[in-house]
Amino acid sequence: CGIVGYIGHREAYPIVIDGLKRLEYRGYDSAGIALFDGQHLKISKTKGKVADLEKKVENEISKEGNLAIGHTRWATHGAPNDINAHPHFSNSGDLVIIHNGIIENYGALKKELIKRGYTFKSDTDTEVLINLIEDVKIKEDVKLGKAVQIALNQVVGAYSVAVFDKNKPDEIVVARLGSPLAIGIGKNEFFIASDASPFLEYTKNAIYLEDEEMAIVRLGKEVKVRKIKDDSLV
Ligand code: GLU
Repeated sequence: CGIVGYIGHREAYPIVIDGLKRLEYRGYDSAGIALFDGQHLKISKTKGKVADLEKKVENEISKEGNLAIGHTRWATHGAPNDINAHPHFSNSGDLVIIHNGIIENYGALKKELIKRGYTFKSDTDTEVLINLIEDVKIKEDVKLGKAVQIALNQVVGAYSVAVFDKNKPDEIVVARLGSPLAIGIGKNEFFIASDASPFLEYTKNAIYLEDEEMAIVRLGKEVKVRKIKDDSLV
């Protein structure tokens, strides 16, 4: 399983697809990508190999966009199929997530979210997490970074995650607990990946998140790394 993301001035699609191929050694059963082109949030995902995803993309979406997150899935909650493949959306359709790992208390969180009116398309623990983030964001009226932080403090499990909001496409929020995550820093561009291999040809400048750390990766800003448990993050 693996995570790759890009935000910057280049076409994101080839970077993310090539990156996912470099992470194939980690093993997976499905693959998917979300691309934002400044107007449209485009998503394609499938059971099978990254090569299958590439074929599906050809028929489903256009490949333009300077922001993308891609995922290879090793199913833990829900069968390996197209619907359970990542990325997953929040109910509003604004927030997008990719996740490697397990949300152990997803059952209790899901029950609570259903009571609050949320619906679910997949059987994954990941779709619970993205709706929890959305619920926190709306309820607490906070920015995405803070919402991710509050939500992760309610989660028991292991993860590396990348989340973005299509209404704020200059930013990706990432976090890690028990599953690796590296951030590559270029010139007004950023790369995100499970290991540095997807971005080594573009930059040698990298931050490796420690467990229980999160980061806000925003164009034009220094990467802000914080402890997930530290509530001073704004
Ligand atoms: N638990 C998530 C799922 O089953 C993520 C699995 C993974 O690590 O790829 O969809």
